[in-house]
Amino acid sequence: MKDKADRSAGNAVIAVDRNYVPMMEVARRKAIRAVASGRAMVLDPASLDRHDNLKGRILLIIFPHARACAESKLLMGRLDRRVMRRDHYQCQYEGCHNRADTIDHIIPLCQGGRTAWQNLVACCLLCNQTKGGRTPEQAGMRLKKVPEAPRAHLFRRFEEILKDGSAA
Ligand SMILES: [Zn+2]
Repeated sequence: MKDKADRSAGNAVIAVDRNYVPMMEVARRKAIRAVASGRAMVLDPASLDRHDNLKGRILLIIFPHARACAESKLLMGRLDRRVMRRDHYQCQYEGCHNRADTIDHIIPLCQGGRTAWQNLVACCLLCNQTKGGRTPEQAGMRLKKVPEAPRAHLFRRFEEILKDGSAA
């Protein structure tokens, strides 16, 4: 962990693959070395232009050989697909062994529930219809487990960089 100081200072560079999906964080000097040797390109967060100019501040690089960490694999794709994957395509309501066909808002949207990782579970059509616009408590249903949010640090940082980039 000799790159730890680099990371904790918020200096780590995010490496994205060809499709701009964040793959991992790399220490700044590693990023510079990769660009200098032609293995990576600097990605401008504002314009999304790629270049090999090492003079400015480097936040993102395109690193075609980057291997996806488990976290980024899990977080790829749309939120509903990610929730399905997290829940292994199984209905998350207790006593039900059906394959999930739908995504349920645990606290329904009509009761102020959010479309967020922690409020979404994979759910079969039957349970979803039974539950309707009610909370599990109101419907007398229980979840098999509390839905967890994955460590989303990498993606949060990536989004921050893009946001800052387009604001500048
Ligand atoms: Zn079910």
